[in-house]
Amino acid sequence: MYIVPEREIANLMTREAAFDAVEKVFAAMATGDAYNFPVVREAIGHEDALYGFKGGFDRAGLTLGLKAGGYWPNNLEKRDIINHQSTVFLFDPDTGKAKAMVGGNLLTALRTAAASSVSIKHLARKDAKTIGMIGAGHQATFQLRAALEQRDFEKVIGWNYHPEMLPNIEKIANEAGLPFEAVSLEEMQDADVIISITSAFAPSLMAEHVSPGTHLACMGTDTKGKQEVEAALLAKSRVFTDEVAQSISIGEAQHAVAEGLIKEADIAQIGAVINGTNPGRTSAEDITLFDGTGVGLQDLAVAASVVELAIKQGIAIEVDF
Ligand code: NAD
Repeated sequence: MYIVPEREIANLMTREAAFDAVEKVFAAMATGDAYNFPVVREAIGHEDALYGFKGGFDRAGLTLGLKAGGYWPNNLEKRDIINHQSTVFLFDPDTGKAKAMVGGNLLTALRTAAASSVSIKHLARKDAKTIGMIGAGHQATFQLRAALEQRDFEKVIGWNYHPEMLPNIEKIANEAGLPFEAVSLEEMQDADVIISITSAFAPSLMAEHVSPGTHLACMGTDTKGKQEVEAALLAKSRVFTDEVAQSISIGEAQHAVAEGLIKEADIAQIGAVINGTNPGRTSAEDITLFDGTGVGLQDLAVAASVVELAIKQGIAIEVDF
């Protein structure tokens, strides 16, 4: 089997490779060629840690495995390592033998950024010029950097619950040669594309803050109880997701469904748009909303891609196992 350590991922993986891997696996999920296993997530009663497994099998890409990991809130303070920790394990679907062990921390950030980018590619208006960010933490920088590659954006606007964090995303905008403006939530009406990536448990962005024709990628809500946007916004939108079962249980749509504002059947898989079986945006006035909940198959797809690159470049460590 091969080992690709976390320290090698930054030199190996590109945003383009992550985008391609995620777009392909979303497409495979929509045809039924790939499916996610039920997620296990446990409070282990040690170090306040949340630990779990996200796995799946992609019959089209022949990728089988799981991501094991979670959140250790004391890591940074006690040990100077990041709080989110994960490792991806890949198995040979023909034999069940272990195939690879891959550092999953940076890959998680890249696959999450790729997901909102895939949604922008397939659902945002072609003439989108202004991108709005709700959130300015660790993941926001990845989302913005990847999103800027999808359209000829001319301006970045941003709002964050903690305004002192906004320079994090201003830096990314400026690196891309774009102006940045800190705005109020009302001024998000100027955005053609909005990405929300926060850990909020109450909505910030209301339906009245979003103009017709906007595409939203809601990426922060990945747990029961979290919420970034008003449920009424989903009722006004054409709603897409990575996986419907997660969208209605742990994603942004959980609230709109619970309140009876939309039904499960109103939510489409982004993969169907990629495959051309769902039209996606049907007019310049549609509000499209991608509920990106984060699925195990995304992790496996980028890990498989990085293993291939590592083997090609002679960086993968081969061990007898
Ligand atoms: P972070 O801690 O670096 O940043 C948190 C962000 O949330 C900051 O912008 C902060 O200001 C904002 N925030 C905190 N409390 C808030 C509140 N009460 N109201 C509004 N905003 C608030 O975290 P991160 O690594 O950037 O991750 C952000 C979120 O994305 C987390 O909830 C994480 O679980 C989620 N996430 C989702 C996926 C996915 O696949 N969908 C993948 C990775 C992370």
